[in-house]
Amino acid sequence: MSAQIITVIKGDGIGPSIVDAATAILDKVGCNFQYEYVDAGLTALEKTGELLPQATLDAIARNKITLKGPLTTPVGEGFTSINVTLRKKFNLYSNVRPVISFKGTKARYDNIDIITVRENTEGMYSGAGQVVKNDGELAEAMSIVTREGSARIVEFAFELARREQRKKVTIVHKANILKSTSGLFLKTAREVAARYPDIQTVEMIVDNACMQLVMNPQQFDVIVTTNLFGDILSDLCAGLVGGLGMAPGANIGKDCAIFEAVHGSAPDIAGKNLANPSSVILASIQMLEYLGMKDKAQQILAAVTDVIATGDRTTRDLGGTHGTTDFTQAVLERL
Ligand code: NAD
Repeated sequence: MSAQIITVIKGDGIGPSIVDAATAILDKVGCNFQYEYVDAGLTALEKTGELLPQATLDAIARNKITLKGPLTTPVGEGFTSINVTLRKKFNLYSNVRPVISFKGTKARYDNIDIITVRENTEGMYSGAGQVVKNDGELAEAMSIVTREGSARIVEFAFELARREQRKKVTIVHKANILKSTSGLFLKTAREVAARYPDIQTVEMIVDNACMQLVMNPQQFDVIVTTNLFGDILSDLCAGLVGGLGMAPGANIGKDCAIFEAVHGSAPDIAGKNLANPSSVILASIQMLEYLGMKDKAQQILAAVTDVIATGDRTTRDLGGTHGTTDFTQAVLERL
């Protein structure tokens, strides 16, 4: 069988160091992947004058599966977020962000196992109607929610819940105030949920959901919500299990999928060998599961779990004193 080709974007800042860690681990368990390396973000801008070169877009489309490090979007007018562009261009409508408790972290809670399913192309991030008027005195942006977009993300969440034998899906919304947009999302979500009587459905207003996540996070199983709420709630969830270094995300569409860390390029620690590579390693586990390579996914998860539980060469965000390379070596030695 020919090797599966994976497009790899190492990214900016801490990206290359944590992506190299993940590919070394994938190789160690014998995944037999062939990597096609392409650039995006600042690295691409410096090399080609473009943040998202056509060759990168072609590779993502051709290989269908991408492992990606974080990208820096330069602050300032004229630069649209590269991540938002990629999600829209490849119609990666679902953003799956799981968080689980790892023994040995400095997290405030144990026994957390939450998957946030975030709508990834609509809502406040649709990019529509962004204008600043009246000499900078008035700013407008449009939130776009469609029945089709809402139905497919809620279906995705319920199908995932069924596949992974999850018991409950919490629909998070703000339909009491955002009556048109969040209202349409909730109405559509209720229609979809009715087709899944085997799974408990709970509805929760987003502000209450934030409070409930902090007070009693164990009540959550799968969360499904619109783009902006999902962005915020998934970072909140990462904070429950030890921070952004532990948070992976999968952007999944019909034809393509991009697996990445939830966090950004962390310029404050870039080049210092301080980053926790778990985020991208866990994203590569999501990629293996997506590709049906469950055994290898389990192997890597067990090794990461053991490194963190025993505090063997863990990074500073996990309470250790070691760097990216030592942490990666500790994982590799267990495989
Ligand atoms: P950030 O996520 O890069 O960093 C936030 C904090 O978390 C920092 O203190 C950082 O040191 C820490 N952190 C992040 N990842 C870590 C890891 N693996 N190990 C240990 N600590 C870690 O957020 P920011 O500083 O607001 O953004 C920096 C840049 O990243 C911006 O240009 C932003 O646009 C971009 N960004 C990209 C993505 C993406 O590519 N998916 C996501 C978010 C932000």
